[in-house]
Amino acid sequence: GGSGKFFVGGNWKCNGNSESIKKLVDDLNSAKLEDDVDVVVAPPFVYIPQVVSTLTKRIDVAGQNSWTGKGGAFTGEISADMLADVGSKWVILGHSERRHVLGESSDTIGKKSAYAATKDLGIIACVGEKLEERESGRTLDVVSDQLQAFADSLPDWSNVVIAYEPVWAIGTGKVATPEQAQEVHAAIRKWLSEKVSPEVASKTRIIYGGSVNGPNSSELAKREDIDGFLVGGASLKGPEFATIVNSVT
Ligand code: PEP
Repeated sequence: GGSGKFFVGGNWKCNGNSESIKKLVDDLNSAKLEDDVDVVVAPPFVYIPQVVSTLTKRIDVAGQNSWTGKGGAFTGEISADMLADVGSKWVILGHSERRHVLGESSDTIGKKSAYAATKDLGIIACVGEKLEERESGRTLDVVSDQLQAFADSLPDWSNVVIAYEPVWAIGTGKVATPEQAQEVHAAIRKWLSEKVSPEVASKTRIIYGGSVNGPNSSELAKREDIDGFLVGGASLKGPEFATIVNSVT
């Protein structure tokens, strides 16, 4: 990695129960984590209060999604106000499962980002191409369009981490090679420099997600523009997640 403090997020997705989450929190509380890493975990909404009250303050808590506004008649939604109220410091927005399984558009994700920013939540802004987009040479077009929607919505980038997560690598065991990831991370940094500012480009963490695990994280972490990870499956195992956190270089 190169820009700013290494950042590792654990996205627990729709997994766990009170018992398994208690065990995961215990494991994280007893793990030895390198000091120079920001560490965040995103439990399912209903377990956020349990996690906030039991997890070491060394690790921050994120929501996995939030609504476009304060709330009201939006059955099933959770607002950024609520996330902040129960102690979340971050929210993941634009995750590929939200985009491609739940059908969220970049426009909606932009609105969610704009609103979450007003509640001082840090935003883990996710971008990434599908396999057919990569194979037809459109990776950078897709990622640029997704970045533009965030850029159009965010008042500033000081509390934003970009997660590059190629869809073909998420939950598939098919991790991007360090070269593939570095290439897109460098392109994202160039995009930020040209479309936002050189300062934002040099300060914004760009983290990689997609089948990161204990054995493969350290090679990825060595790459210049890889400033951390967003981890799904492997974040459900405390010791393995700690290994990924500690792959900081
Ligand atoms: C994710 O959900 O952000 C992710 C990268 O998942 P996995 O690590 O399981 O591929």
